[in-house]
Amino acid sequence: MSDQCLPSTVVTQQLASRNAELSGTIAVSKLPRLAAALTSSEGEASVQLRFAIDDQGRRRVAAEVSCDVQILCQRCLQPMPLAIDSKVEAVLVAHDEAAQQVPRELDPIIAEEGILNTYQFIEDELLLCLPFTSFHEYNCGINAGSGEQSQQSETHKPFADLADIMNKS
Ligand SMILES: [Zn+2]
Repeated sequence: MSDQCLPSTVVTQQLASRNAELSGTIAVSKLPRLAAALTSSEGEASVQLRFAIDDQGRRRVAAEVSCDVQILCQRCLQPMPLAIDSKVEAVLVAHDEAAQQVPRELDPIIAEEGILNTYQFIEDELLLCLPFTSFHEYNCGINAGSGEQSQQSETHKPFADLADIMNKS
């Protein structure tokens, strides 16, 4: 996959009529709504877009996006990695009214005068991939169950968990 930056807007008519493919990257820092949901705006999304005209004459765009991000663990409030890999396909429409005519099983995306805002399209998809709740897979909640500490006291080593976390983070 190319390391080129993906253009932030593309003219879709010609891309669709010649079944064009575009690939490139978008820096997470250029996606403010996504960056606001993460603990770091470093990194980039790798994106592949494929344009086509379907048998109904509709212009379509399919996207594959992958992005390694850091989100907040809701238990220990430390960053945790999340690998996003997603595919989405949408029908390009000119305005809201046209969007309402797209069959329900398809997703419309508005490209006014044929111009698609690729950043917005990809950012929306990445936001949908973020989990509602996020917790480290290992037991990071060293402070969460303080009431249970007395029951474990004979073998409990207070810094053992901490060392474990530091090794894994
Ligand atoms: Zn955690």
